[in-house]
Amino acid sequence: MGTTEQEAVRAAVERVADRMADEKEYLTDLDSAIGDADHGANMNRGFRAVHEKVSEMDDAPPDELVKTVGITLVSEVGGAAGPLYGGSFMTASAELGDGITAESSVAFAEVFLEKVKDRGDAPVGAKTMVDAITPAVHTYKKSIEEDDLKPVEALTKAVDACERGVNFTTPIRATKGRASYLGWRSVGHQDPGATSTLFIVKSIRETAVE
Ligand code: ADP
Ligand code: MG
Ligand code: MG
Repeated sequence: MGTTEQEAVRAAVERVADRMADEKEYLTDLDSAIGDADHGANMNRGFRAVHEKVSEMDDAPPDELVKTVGITLVSEVGGAAGPLYGGSFMTASAELGDGITAESSVAFAEVFLEKVKDRGDAPVGAKTMVDAITPAVHTYKKSIEEDDLKPVEALTKAVDACERGVNFTTPIRATKGRASYLGWRSVGHQDPGATSTLFIVKSIRETAVE
């Protein structure tokens, strides 16, 4: 469990926090079309707090850092996204207890998706973050286990798959979350939560070490 892994987690956290700050208004605009216009503020507040917390944890191993990401998101972010993202980071962090490897990162990704689905009860196609997380996780797993790619290459594939998942949310009708109150009027709008998922996956890809 080298310090490089801790640095990779810290770098990813910092990148996500910067990205959420940069995209705050964009996420809020997306959420104002089909929700309550707070997703940008929620994600920005959450990851700013995460960045602060993680910066204070000098000697913590990667799994503890990631667990802290989850705990902080749950406590700082209300609404749907905080508990969904936070709960998944918390639970899936346990998979990184022996370090971050190709194998443990696949396990992390799978548990992450499983927990979002357990808690939110949204299937693929309900116009939620599940539509972005699912293809990202499946592609990451396949790229590592079947195509023998390195984690960084697998992450590049996962980003592409995630992006297609985000685009898929636009033409469909929301059946879960706040956007489902709009019924058919949710059609034609990109889901904010799927979009923030893409920012997270991209940030992890950008800061991942070989
Ligand atoms: P809220 O809707 O409570 O204001 P946010 O705006 O922070 O919370 O997050 C909204 C996002 O949460 C949605 O765009 C969607 O991706 C996601 N979401 C909402 N409900 C669910 C659910 N049941 N399962 C998975 N994701 C969900
Ligand atoms: Mg909202
Ligand atoms: Mg809200």
